[in-house]
Amino acid sequence: MNTEIGLYIHIPFCKSKCLYCDYPSTTNNRIQDKYFDYLLKEIDLVNYSGKIKTVFLGGGTPSYVGVKQIDKIFRRFDLSNVSEITIESNPETLNEEKLHEYFSLGINRLSLGVQTFDNSILNAMNRLYDNEIIERNYYLARRYFSNINFDFILGLPGII
Ligand code: SF4
Repeated sequence: MNTEIGLYIHIPFCKSKCLYCDYPSTTNNRIQDKYFDYLLKEIDLVNYSGKIKTVFLGGGTPSYVGVKQIDKIFRRFDLSNVSEITIESNPETLNEEKLHEYFSLGINRLSLGVQTFDNSILNAMNRLYDNEIIERNYYLARRYFSNINFDFILGLPGII
C-alpha cells in the first residue's frame, strides 16, 4: 500500500514557561538527553509503511534544542519522498548558524511563534523577545527559508 504519512514529532523543551501555556513542555534541561534517547528508541519500535510526505517538529520549542538531536531523529526515517519539513521556533532562539543547519538538514518551512508585536503583551506573557528581535530574526530566516508562517495568539484572558 502506498500510504502517505504526515509525521508529527513533539519536542517538549522550552527556555522558559509562558504564562498561558497548557502544552506538555518543560524547562528542565537535565532530562533532555534521556528524553531523546527514549524518543529514538520509541521511533525504532514503530513499524510504519508508506511514504513520509511531511514532517512537523512541534513543541515545546524545537528550535531551543540542539540541531544534533534533530539530525539524529531525521536519520531514523526515510525522508526521500518528503515535500515539507517544518520546525516550530521562538524568535529569540534563532541565529544564522542554526538557520543554516536547519536548511542543510532539509527543513524548508519555519513556523515562527510571534504571538503579538506588542512588547508589553510579550513581556506579560513571559515571552523572551521583543518586536526588534522578531524583525531581525525574521529577515535572517528569509535568507534560508521562503516558507515562513507566524503564529499569533488570540483571546488571552485579561490581556488580548
Ligand atoms: S514556548 Fe510554547 S510550549 Fe513553550 S512554554 Fe511557551 S507556549 Fe508553552
